[in-house]
Amino acid sequence: MLYCEKCNILVKCEKCPLCKNMNLREVKDIDFCYFTSIGTIHYEIFKNALKKEKIDIVGIPYYTRPVTLSSAGRAQVRRVYVRYKDFEKAKEIFNMFFGNLIK
Ligand SMILES: [Zn+2]
Repeated sequence: MLYCEKCNILVKCEKCPLCKNMNLREVKDIDFCYFTSIGTIHYEIFKNALKKEKIDIVGIPYYTRPVTLSSAGRAQVRRVYVRYKDFEKAKEIFNMFFGNLIK
């Protein structure tokens, strides 16, 4: 499996589908890979479940609506990343909690 360092995603072909980067490398176990985007409430549940399994997780907040004074600091969605070595296990746990939300 290949990995795009710019987008932090797993890539199945020789070109990154997001940034068109062709300078990809083999993924390493410790690489954080884009997993999914979920709401902050689901993220908290998922994070706690992964913590119990000692799986590292990163959730980057991002805004689905324009940032205003009242929405600042209250992102509703997280882009979730887990290490490549934990990817399959994270998927299992995710499906246990959220069924088929993930594509
Ligand atoms: Zn890319």
